[in-house]
Amino acid sequence: GPAPEADSEARGWLARHEGKFGHFINGGFTPSQSGKSFDTFEPATGAVLAKLAIGSKADVDHAVAAARKAQGPWAKLPGHARARHLYALARMIQRHARLIAVVEAIDNGKPVRETRDIDIPLAARHFYHHAGWAQIQDTEFSDHIPVGVVGQIIPWNFPFLMLAWKVAPALALGNTVVLKPAEFTSLTALLFAELAAAAGLPAGVLNVVTGEGETGALLVDHGDVDKIAFTGSTEVGRLIRERTAGSGKSLTLELGGKSPFIVFDDADIDGAVEGVVDAIWFNQGQVCCAGSRLLVQEGIAPLFQERLLRRMSTLRVGQPLDKCIDMGAIVAPVQLSRIEALVKQGVAEGATLHQAQIEMPQGGSFYPPTLLSGVQSSSTVATEEIFGPVAVSMTFRTPDEAIQLANNSRYGLAASVWSETIGLALNVAAKLAAGVVWVNATNLFDAAVGFGGKRESGFGREGGREGAYEYLKPKAWQGRKPRAMP
Ligand code: NAD
Repeated sequence: GPAPEADSEARGWLARHEGKFGHFINGGFTPSQSGKSFDTFEPATGAVLAKLAIGSKADVDHAVAAARKAQGPWAKLPGHARARHLYALARMIQRHARLIAVVEAIDNGKPVRETRDIDIPLAARHFYHHAGWAQIQDTEFSDHIPVGVVGQIIPWNFPFLMLAWKVAPALALGNTVVLKPAEFTSLTALLFAELAAAAGLPAGVLNVVTGEGETGALLVDHGDVDKIAFTGSTEVGRLIRERTAGSGKSLTLELGGKSPFIVFDDADIDGAVEGVVDAIWFNQGQVCCAGSRLLVQEGIAPLFQERLLRRMSTLRVGQPLDKCIDMGAIVAPVQLSRIEALVKQGVAEGATLHQAQIEMPQGGSFYPPTLLSGVQSSSTVATEEIFGPVAVSMTFRTPDEAIQLANNSRYGLAASVWSETIGLALNVAAKLAAGVVWVNATNLFDAAVGFGGKRESGFGREGGREGAYEYLKPKAWQGRKPRAMP
């Protein structure tokens, strides 16, 4: 059941701040200069969790100025000194892992078992990994310099992990940051800023400005920001690309997806069924690379569906702090309504609805694990990202048809192929338009591997060597004489 002592530690942290947070600028909390605030809610109960400041133009100016002032000295630190700061941040995350995991679960609605075992350890790993890049920056990237001041805008589905994906490489390679967390889930970013200051991170190196989309837009439009790194919807990504065009700002976009999950006749059925559970019901399906389009070869389609529905009926939906649950709450009522509307539309378009008859918690924003079978490849539910625990399924006959169906999407973030014939799986994998293809696996990530999309899933990579280059720019040759050959 729920862990009352962990919950009370998190409530204690909120109480210490009197349920009210300013922005974190230049090493400390500061109230919004506009005096405006908004409430952040607990998805599992609908209760107000805290009041957050709305970042105005004056707040964004203040944060960018702090980041600018800190950037020169931060970049001048030798790589090994910056590495020490990243190691300290990683250790700080580990030391406070339980508090962060519980705050994240309460604020986002996701199971604490996931934040404890996945989000928070992976976030720490990102800081450890990028400490390594800082360590060897002076030799490995000697012909590159940091981009400068980076504006980072992140979504609500993995609030703390997305922070780590963005902040760790930026700081490691000598940049300073103004971070705008998602309005539904800003608490762990504020907690992290507080922990970072306690770990000795110099003032101004990491600043957090809270607020809604308008605050993000102020950061995007700011004249003294050198780069925008954005993770979120394709719609907002497109807007940001338009607004930064011609501004000289660097840009990376990690956007939406509608990733195919392809099951061949000869797949290990039980393995593939567990794969679907991970692909679409993990994190309530609010995963950018969720395997949301099931493509199943005709020969096993009936058996596969039967096994999948049986497995679906064993999933438990419940309170985020209950360690026995598989799925928690949807992040906000507005997202829940969106999911409900799309599922209704799928049924209207002719799909068959399967929802397990399982016990559902009352009060918060909950949605059961769902499968829509027999969907048309051109229908709304087969093409639009639902961003909820809803898989759609279609069948195919040949590998070529699977590839064609899989690539029939405006997105290209991830794909998953299931077959016991490795040659077949690898041949198909090579033909899929996706930033990452998993074979007999799904949703695997590593700090050392560049992650990112193709097509309308965005551009740029996060993690590893490719990700490091996104926070660097080549040294200008102007004024520097190329060294003579010996
Ligand atoms: P969103 O685009 O609505 O919001 C993302 C962030 O952008 C939030 O912080 C929001 O406040 C901010 N924002 C909104 N309007 C803005 C504007 N005009 N200018 C600047 N900032 C603005 O997306 P969301 O609902 O928070 O997240 C869900 C989406 O994110 C899904 O489409 C999902 O696929 C995608 N996502 C992608 C990845 C990836 O790595 N590719 C990872 C996680 C989520």
